[in-house]
Amino acid sequence: MEIKAPRGTKDVLPVDSYKWIYVENLFRKVCNLFGYEEIRTPIFEHTELFKRGVGETTDIVQKEMYSFQDNGGREITLKPEGTAGAVRAFIENKLYANTQPTKLYYITPCFRYERPQAGRLRQFHQFGVEVFGSESPSIDSEVMALAMEFFKRVGLQKLELRINSIGCPSCRREYNKKLKEYLSEKLDKLCKTCQDRYERNPLRILDCKNETCKLEIENAPLMIDNICDDCKEHFEKVKNYLDSMGVEYTVDPKIVRGLDYYTKTAFEIISNDIGAQSTVCGGGRYDGLVEELGGPKISGIGFGMGIERLLLTLENNNIQIPKKDGIDIFIVTIGQKAENESFKILKKLRENNISCDKDHIGRSVKAQFKYSNKVNAKFTIVLGDDEIDKDVASLKNMETSEQIEIKLSEIVDVLKNRL
Ligand code: ATP
Ligand code: MG
Repeated sequence: MEIKAPRGTKDVLPVDSYKWIYVENLFRKVCNLFGYEEIRTPIFEHTELFKRGVGETTDIVQKEMYSFQDNGGREITLKPEGTAGAVRAFIENKLYANTQPTKLYYITPCFRYERPQAGRLRQFHQFGVEVFGSESPSIDSEVMALAMEFFKRVGLQKLELRINSIGCPSCRREYNKKLKEYLSEKLDKLCKTCQDRYERNPLRILDCKNETCKLEIENAPLMIDNICDDCKEHFEKVKNYLDSMGVEYTVDPKIVRGLDYYTKTAFEIISNDIGAQSTVCGGGRYDGLVEELGGPKISGIGFGMGIERLLLTLENNNIQIPKKDGIDIFIVTIGQKAENESFKILKKLRENNISCDKDHIGRSVKAQFKYSNKVNAKFTIVLGDDEIDKDVASLKNMETSEQIEIKLSEIVDVLKNRL
């Protein structure tokens, strides 16, 4: 019986993998330009890390994690996002003892048990950054500027950056009281999840996708109108720095990250063309998270960007990713002696960083030429038994069809001049 890939997973085939390589290289490049370094953390972690790091009340922890017991009886979870692992590694490896801030980026697969649809998979991939050890609003702005610079370079000029401030534990405590007061009479109209959130995590109700809940919270008090002076000053500076950097944004008071250790800046980058799945990037400040996970009192901020959603957005905007060129040289051989010789030539060319190939399934000469076309070779070298002794071969430019005779012993120099 044929075995299919699990639901919600996708193969990245050669027809598409060049796009992945392109965006990955671009992301690395932009991160480097901003002074970020790569971190790689394990695909699986102790389940407890995500329970504490992502939060017991979140959709991720309540219903989306791939968790299992390993053969040693440990509770293990495939990473559903990148932040918790990065924070764990930051603490465990004592990166806080280095000069701060610590500016990290990652490229990682993530796993969430969700209902698969366009832009929503069970194994998906994220680009992300995390910065530890700076409370300054300038780093909030830089993190957002980095994401927007990446989008600009990849060709997405029209994405919308939406920012908000969700305050700090002290002003949120006051706000939560106000919000709960407002919601108390509407509680029975809210969905089951929001009823649970009411006690544990009321801010998150503002984020509910349920239409009835949306209606009920329409006139709810907003966090942004209730932040303390310190948070307000921080937010004003974030906006000023974004202005200085020429990064456009809108303030969206409905953006929340509803956990105590998420603080101040929260943001999303939205594309308006892939329907329901419009958030390509989400991030924010988490000044309480490092401490929550057992580290020192050190602040953090970061974002996660869905790579599949990024590629989908590019497609919907008709942005073409430059296609990888074909190989430089294909060697057509006529006869056994020529075939033997071709291996030496391939070796020499590859040593000189010239990409090349030959036939490997016993094609006729005509079929070898056809295949050379198919693999998009820039030049074809034709090698015949007789010509080898005379140190000659014929070189055909596949674009112009021009054909010349070259000296085999000078092949590398000849090609270097022409490629
Ligand atoms: P959504 O509201 O769409 O479920 P989220 O709030 O769960 O998103 P985050 O946890 O902030 O998303 O993850 C950051 C980014 O990762 C998202 O903006 C999105 O681009 C991407 N992402 C999240 N879940 C998936 C998924 N199941 N499949 C593909 N991409 C995803
Ligand atoms: Mg989600």
